[in-house]
Amino acid sequence: MSFVVAIDGPAGTGKGTIAKLIAQELNLVNIDTGAMYRSITLEAIRQGINSIEEKEKLIEIAKNIKIEMTNNNGEQEIFLNGENVSKEIRSTEVSGFVSQVSSIPEIRELMVNLQRKMAEGRDVIMEGRDITTVVFPNANVKIYLDADVAERAKRRYKENKEKGMQATFEETLEAMKKRDHNDMHKPVGALKIAEDAIVVDTTNMTIDEVKEKVKEIITKC
Ligand code: C5P
Repeated sequence: MSFVVAIDGPAGTGKGTIAKLIAQELNLVNIDTGAMYRSITLEAIRQGINSIEEKEKLIEIAKNIKIEMTNNNGEQEIFLNGENVSKEIRSTEVSGFVSQVSSIPEIRELMVNLQRKMAEGRDVIMEGRDITTVVFPNANVKIYLDADVAERAKRRYKENKEKGMQATFEETLEAMKKRDHNDMHKPVGALKIAEDAIVVDTTNMTIDEVKEKVKEIITKC
């Protein structure tokens, strides 16, 4: 039996950072499911596919792709067919297409199965959009991280700027709103709050405060 902490929420709520920190402190395996959908999207873009119209080709990519995750001193690294693509999967191009790719039910089914397999026999903290509702509806701990969209865009803009990415704040905000809309309106695996999830609104909280709150929720379960 494994112990599962499931975290969902929209982009920019700090899920990735929180999961990473808590995994280190509580000795859990951190699984970033967004990175898996991003890897498929990156491979598609590299193969010249940038439209959801090419659904069959996208499904083929998802079927044949090899995705591996490792933890290097707490830093999660993603390998796509053996190549470290941890940086490439965060590009604006991938972020702009990933919610469409991940809306394909066949691709979701493949990834959900893979995510369940990755957690087998391990104590994990898994974050994404459908972990508390689809992947592990019976997880030991279910948390939904939320925040005001302007605050989330502000965080993402700052992050991107530090990485040398060019987008303006307005562009970042628009892209985030579009991704939120897509993620909340998928036919399968749409982002929603599970009935029994504990909601944490991080709008006015620091990363450290969110981490302490989430840790408190986990240790009380
Ligand atoms: O978490 P991150 O922002 O990296 O996720 C990228 C995208 O992958 C999300 O916007 C969403 O479209 C998709 N995703 C998903 N289901 C998950 C995790 C991510 O559909 N469990």
